[in-house]
Amino acid sequence: MKRREEALAMVAVESYEVCVIGGGATGAGCALDAQLRGMKTVLVDGGDFASGASTAATKIIHGGVRYLEEAVKGLDVKQYEVVNRALHERIHMLHNGPYMTRPLEFLIPCANWFSVAYMGFGMKLYEWIAGKASLFASRFLSRAETLKRMPGLASARLLGSIAYADGQFDDARYNMALINSLVEAGGNAVNYARVVAFNKDAAGRLESAEVEDQFSEKRFTVRASRFVNAAGPGADAIRGLARLGVVARMRLSKGAHIVLPLEAFPTRDALLIPRTDDGRVLFAVPWFDRLLIGTTETEVKVGEELYLSKGDVAYLLRHINEYFATAIRAEQIVSGYAGARPLVSAGGSRDTKKLARDHEVEVDAQSGLISIMGGKWTTHRAMAEDTINAVQKSLGHAATPGVTVDHPLYGS
Ligand SMILES: Cc1cc2nc3c(=O)[nH]c(=O)nc-3n(C[C@H](O)[C@H](O)[C@H](O)COP(=O)(O)OP(=O)(O)OC[C@H]3O[C@@H](n4cnc5c(N)ncnc54)[C@H](O)[C@@H]3O)c2cc1C
Repeated sequence: MKRREEALAMVAVESYEVCVIGGGATGAGCALDAQLRGMKTVLVDGGDFASGASTAATKIIHGGVRYLEEAVKGLDVKQYEVVNRALHERIHMLHNGPYMTRPLEFLIPCANWFSVAYMGFGMKLYEWIAGKASLFASRFLSRAETLKRMPGLASARLLGSIAYADGQFDDARYNMALINSLVEAGGNAVNYARVVAFNKDAAGRLESAEVEDQFSEKRFTVRASRFVNAAGPGADAIRGLARLGVVARMRLSKGAHIVLPLEAFPTRDALLIPRTDDGRVLFAVPWFDRLLIGTTETEVKVGEELYLSKGDVAYLLRHINEYFATAIRAEQIVSGYAGARPLVSAGGSRDTKKLARDHEVEVDAQSGLISIMGGKWTTHRAMAEDTINAVQKSLGHAATPGVTVDHPLYGS
């Protein structure tokens, strides 16, 4: 990795083919894809790399069990496609960064045979959709087998569990590996460099971005043929800088986690509660020597401060303690974090927990800005591929296939 001063000095004098705004999973994935396809690329982030939603995740590489249920119940093809795509992306994430990912077994506790049949069928469907990308077969675990693996589970109403596989990853490390891979491939990346305005030609097309160094507060100009907006929760603000009066597309859903010592619920597997009484999914996941419990889902506005509130703690403890033999107390919590899922709305006012975790690439015909909105960590690579396909198309370049499907990341 170049020193920041070096990278900064270079950005101010060079001209790029692609400038990516945002250094979370989405932007880092886009910048790497563009650079690997031979386009001279720079990435700028207004804060630290990987400081947004991309490090507030539950750290699971998954298709989404809840979205599958919604796809089936609502005969929702869009939800099905999201699950299908994510299940197939899962395997690429695991292969391209083996030192920061691993397959993980999830147990879904069941209180009766109806629940065993329902969950068992659902997980077989999950596996069937994954096809060759399946990790390992789901199966029923008896009450004794379940308690052996999760001795802290409340046993009174436990009949057994359904065990299935997804992946787990180190989100901060993975995000940095994407950026290091970009730099290794010849691209440039600068943090604490916030886009504050665009310069346009007479027709309103973007020519360059005005960027403010957040340390010196000095401004400099970044010239690029195309600008990719991967600002996550800040995507609408960038769209607004490119063209006045655009209709907001982002819906933000706050998610919070609490972090506990692993001794509070000793386990090597993850626990999935498929439906709380208010219709949400909860996870308890081993994370190094800690246990992450999450997540909440409440709609927030752009710019709202994101922190773990007392209400979040009370919500998570109330629901998780229904499944734990020994109730967790708030004093046992060692830390916590919260972030905003950048979801893209197709219009209407659906509840954020029902919005598909789908992504959309928007090409603004007037300014030429290419915005990538929505999605999730698991699909960041496919999102980047779609975005850079759109960049090539808008530049009038012959389409070249993305190469990130099989590109070992920095350190792999
Ligand atoms: C609680 C929670 C749990 C989740 N769990 C999972 C999970 O287990 N698995 C999964 O697959 N997904 C999960 N997700 C979803 C996933 O984390 C997000 O979809 C993904 O990280 C979004 O990445 P991003 O790069 O689009 O946004 P961000 O990571 O927020 O990155 C956007 C970046 O843009 C920068 N930026 C903004 N404005 C400007 C500007 N003007 N100039 C320059 N830079 C700017 C910001 O500084 C930021 O770094 C979870 C999300 C949350 C919130």
